[in-house]
Amino acid sequence: MSSAQPVSTRIRHAVPVGPVIIGGGQPVVVQSMTNTDTADIEATARQVQELAEAGSELVRLTVNDEGAAAAVPHIADRLERAGCMVPLVGDFHFNGHKLLERHPACAERLAKFRINPGNVGKGKQRDSRFTTMIELACRYDKPVRIGVNWGSLDQQVLARLLDDNARRPTPLPIEDINRQAVIQSALESAAMARDIGLGADRIVISCKMSRVQDLVSVYRELAAQSRYALHLGLTEAGMGDKGVIASTAALSILLNEGIGDTIRISLTPEPGAGRTREVKVAQEILQALELRSFTPRVVACPGCGRTSSDYFQVLAQQIQQRLDAAMGEWRERYPGVESMNVAVMGCVVNGPGESKHANIGISLPGSGETPVAPVYEDGEKTVTLKGDRIAEEFMQRVEDYVQRRYGGT
Ligand code: SF4
Repeated sequence: MSSAQPVSTRIRHAVPVGPVIIGGGQPVVVQSMTNTDTADIEATARQVQELAEAGSELVRLTVNDEGAAAAVPHIADRLERAGCMVPLVGDFHFNGHKLLERHPACAERLAKFRINPGNVGKGKQRDSRFTTMIELACRYDKPVRIGVNWGSLDQQVLARLLDDNARRPTPLPIEDINRQAVIQSALESAAMARDIGLGADRIVISCKMSRVQDLVSVYRELAAQSRYALHLGLTEAGMGDKGVIASTAALSILLNEGIGDTIRISLTPEPGAGRTREVKVAQEILQALELRSFTPRVVACPGCGRTSSDYFQVLAQQIQQRLDAAMGEWRERYPGVESMNVAVMGCVVNGPGESKHANIGISLPGSGETPVAPVYEDGEKTVTLKGDRIAEEFMQRVEDYVQRRYGGT
């Protein structure tokens, strides 16, 4: 690392994006991106709203052609009418300079521009397009994410570093040069943006890589070399469990070191599936790391030979589903409820202990145990449930607990 100050203690520039602040020691912001044709106003507005309702605090949409740029103000209007005020981020590439010039309403209604310096052209053309977009960001007072992507790396920067490397007595491995090129591309573009007039508190940087170790190494270096707010994400993470696990592995290492001010999980949805899973995964990562709380957490044991049926698994699932469903209403009415822990345990081995540590917990009877289920609230045993209605009675106790503990009465 090139800095003496530990990265985790460095407060990064605070970048306001509408009402949301990225960096400056503020909580890590959850982002997502649409996959609709942006020119399809209705479909895009609907998906933005779904993502916002799932908890996305910024939503990015591609602005790739005239139709998309023309649609942005209509999408923003439609969302506003529906009471959805989530800030919109426009994703620009080769023609972003033209689109932003020709569609002032698009530039105005976006809360942030994302520019990939590897995808705006080559040589002088690249510089002039990049300059135009930054000048427009300054004119409309918009922050910019300089978003480098490993798959579209600035070839000029890479060629320069490869030449330098070839002149070394012992050249570095190509992987090292690739990582350096990604970092250089981001930092040189940020320096250029600042020379044009964009403040450091209007710049967010990202360097997305598709391999976990590359991402960790690049962001550690990036965090050490600059104080720009950082957007984290593993690009092309993939589908299903693989994408979730790879993203979690990469982001957890960095977030735990205090690196990352906003995150996006780039999951490929299953065909026909919705888009909101990426938001939920981002929230789960932040909540598991105790960086933020979004929804009450159900702590359930994995079960073993002592559980004679899947009863407790079903109960744990039902409770999590009911808590998730109730959160829309509870968030406003019961401040702090998102930090609540509910334990659902399969037998008396660890059940009472785990239940005592939770806000409210139940220890179900394991095989061969007396068919009773002690309930603990704030560490004290309050009741022992028995019979066929244990699930319903426990859920009622959870709801009573929430009202009592978070209702302020
Ligand atoms: S709490 Fe009981 S049922 Fe659950 S894993 Fe431990 S021993 Fe098995």
